[in-house]
Amino acid sequence: ETIGANFQHAALRFPDREALIDRPSGRRWSYAELNHDVDALARGLLAAGVAKADRVGIWAPNVPEWVLLQYATAKIGAILVNVNPSYRVHELKYAIQQSGMSMIVALPEFKGSNYQAMVETVRPECPFLAAAIYIGTSSWDALVAGGESAPADAVEHAMAGLDPDEPINIQYTSGTTGYPKGATLSHRNILNNGYFVTETIGFTEQDKLCMPVPFYHCFGMVMGNLGATTHGAAIIIPAPSFDAAATLRAVQEERCTALYGVPTMFIAELNLPDFANYDLSSLRTGIMAGSPCPVEVMKRCMTEMHMGQVSIAYGMTETAPVSMQTLPDDDVAHRTRTVGRVHPHLEVKIVDPATGLTVPRGTPGEFCTRGYSVMLGYWNDPEKTASAIDGGRWMHTGDLAEMLQDGYVNIVGRIKDMVIRGGENLYPREIEEFLYTHPDIADVQVIGVPDEKYGEELCAWILMKPGSAVLDQAGMAAFCEGHLSRHKIPRYVLAVDEFPMTVTGKVRKMDMRATTVELLG
Ligand code: ATP
Ligand code: MG
Repeated sequence: ETIGANFQHAALRFPDREALIDRPSGRRWSYAELNHDVDALARGLLAAGVAKADRVGIWAPNVPEWVLLQYATAKIGAILVNVNPSYRVHELKYAIQQSGMSMIVALPEFKGSNYQAMVETVRPECPFLAAAIYIGTSSWDALVAGGESAPADAVEHAMAGLDPDEPINIQYTSGTTGYPKGATLSHRNILNNGYFVTETIGFTEQDKLCMPVPFYHCFGMVMGNLGATTHGAAIIIPAPSFDAAATLRAVQEERCTALYGVPTMFIAELNLPDFANYDLSSLRTGIMAGSPCPVEVMKRCMTEMHMGQVSIAYGMTETAPVSMQTLPDDDVAHRTRTVGRVHPHLEVKIVDPATGLTVPRGTPGEFCTRGYSVMLGYWNDPEKTASAIDGGRWMHTGDLAEMLQDGYVNIVGRIKDMVIRGGENLYPREIEEFLYTHPDIADVQVIGVPDEKYGEELCAWILMKPGSAVLDQAGMAAFCEGHLSRHKIPRYVLAVDEFPMTVTGKVRKMDMRATTVELLG
């Protein structure tokens, strides 16, 4: 099945159910209405000359047009290119040129970012970019209106000519560890993954999903949008970009049953001064993914946010994205210490990065996965593709993990983040987990910085809770004494107001390392 066909099917089965609610504008669509508007836009794209396999970029925060374009391009087989809202001119030009985009659809401006001006700046250098459409302006209206001249059955015709194994989406990775890479994904990759993610947490057409996660990322557009529409559930947009208070207000006022987020979003929501005033009792489930979740945060989500069935998912853009997920009835230990079990129809193995051989259970190694979810490749980059996907179709993730005796997997960290101090492998996550138990620490990140004697030394960046005295190195060492072995106690401590983040809410440890090296001279 293609994405367009699946969505059409949802509209037939659940015509009157709510499909999309945009809280900032107050606009709401039922499945029948959304399908109608998607078709109108798809006809507009066809009339504008967009053909199967053409690349159409979307550059906007979470606005409903994002969703319309996602399904409209899917129906006609155009390849949607997700452009990160935090990009600036240089990165935008890279994405347009790298993907060979013929049309870009952008919000003219948002929170001081003038997207339209940036698009117009790069256009002279991108002659193949035939059209720039700005959401909420006459160019958008003209695009949709133009579709009226296309034959009534044009969209159905286009849809019938598609194959589920064809590329439908280019998603650039978060860029946590370097330059973002364009993962090319098929209908089969992302439609199945979206379906299994919400199938795992028991979604039905009764569910209402609050989506503070950016659509541009696979967490948003696959686990969120496709996860919802494959089950006839509703997508609720609380705000165009993450806003903790708007998110909880949306949950309360729309009676949402599910909430998604990366751990830093849940932390921000739990830390709202008026957190206790929100009625979150409609929540049942949700997904937390993208980076490790501190145990304390998980416990508070399960009790104070009523998300007793919250699920942890692990994955990456290149694998559509999820390969591991906890189940709703997993016990707390599995939910807080592992990322669950392998998803249906996928294979997983943990290998020694040096030899490629599978390691015994309980031993850390590189997490590799194979199955329907593995991307077609990196767009126009056969070399990078070959270094990530081996001859046996196994995707090498660059993540360190250990498989426990019962098949659950614990993510130990990225191979690139592992600290080797005096020949010993240290895993920052273990140390972060412990430091997080300090009553005055709101958030903490541990990195390795170069050291003459040991090769690397540990440095902790800490965010203190409001009103708490700053913890220095001696204070931290005293706190760790007796709980962590001496060599795991950070040698350096930096109190900060924030961490360098990707727009998906992940900490850029690469930038932290550079800053720390500068500060330490
Ligand atoms: P880039 O590849 O550009 O450096 P990125 O790897 O952060 O960026 P994504 O594809 O968005 O880009 O993120 C996938 C990565 O996120 C995984 O490889 C893993 O390191 C991390 N991750 C995802 N889910 C979890 C989780 N539940 N627990 C721990 N880490 C996770
Ligand atoms: Mg990655």
